Amino acid sequence: MRWQGGRRSGNIDDRRGLSGGAVGGLGIGGVVIALIGVFVFGIDPGQMMGIVSEGGGQQTQVAGKQGSPEDQAGAFVDVVETSTTDVWTQLFSKSGEQYRPPADVVLYDQATSTGCGTGQAAMGPFYCPGDQKVYLDLAFWNELETQFGARGEFARAYVIAHEIGHHVQTLTGSIGEGRASARGAESGAVRVELQADCYAGVWAAHAGEVSGGQIALDQGDLESGLGAASAVGDDTIQRRTQGRVVPDAFTHGSAEQRMRWFRKGYETGDPGQCDTFKARSL
Ligand SMILES: [Zn+2]
Repeated sequence: MRWQGGRRSGNIDDRRGLSGGAVGGLGIGGVVIALIGVFVFGIDPGQMMGIVSEGGGQQTQVAGKQGSPEDQAGAFVDVVETSTTDVWTQLFSKSGEQYRPPADVVLYDQATSTGCGTGQAAMGPFYCPGDQKVYLDLAFWNELETQFGARGEFARAYVIAHEIGHHVQTLTGSIGEGRASARGAESGAVRVELQADCYAGVWAAHAGEVSGGQIALDQGDLESGLGAASAVGDDTIQRRTQGRVVPDAFTHGSAEQRMRWFRKGYETGDPGQCDTFKARSL
């Protein structure tokens, strides 16, 4: 994946190195912690909204360094997030709407306070609808490679674009559908996740053209994104952690479904094709 010349908006709140102080006052062990290990690939936003409305508003103001990080890993996140802003701004304006980027992408180590309670690296990357921020612990990239077997920068870009997909859902309102039913193969939660995968594909479809060629996919990138989508499928994770597949406990969709919706977004480039809520078969 080529990205080095991509535009940077610096919409980053870099809290790396701040973690100890940042959560000290909050105490670890809130509701969010109970969810650890359940949502390996980002907390189910429906549940997050539940937490927020149940009085999660114990947010302490924590701010790291605002702007564009100087290191490679931080710069990469900045470029990809900025690219999602450019792509979604264009797509929203086609339908006469205005896109607002997320409040921030927060980079942190281990734990940090969020509008949805204490964020823990163990939860994986997630989006908090309450404060409209994406939370990323970059140590997850190692996990993505070693535990999920998903290599390459594009696999990482897919993760970021998926979380931004939840932000798009927050703007359109479809994120609320996840609250109706949080688990099961046909649940609202799974539909929300598969739509975010489709939106990640939509971003990938337009990233090159919208950036004037500054961002470009290489041969094998699509496969690497699909590989990541497959690796974080509920069935893949269940098989690995429990030795069996329990569709009733699905929160994100199967490997096959996640790949299919990502591909659908990529091949059509049309967010209108991402209506997982009306889809007869997922
Ligand atoms: Zn998600």
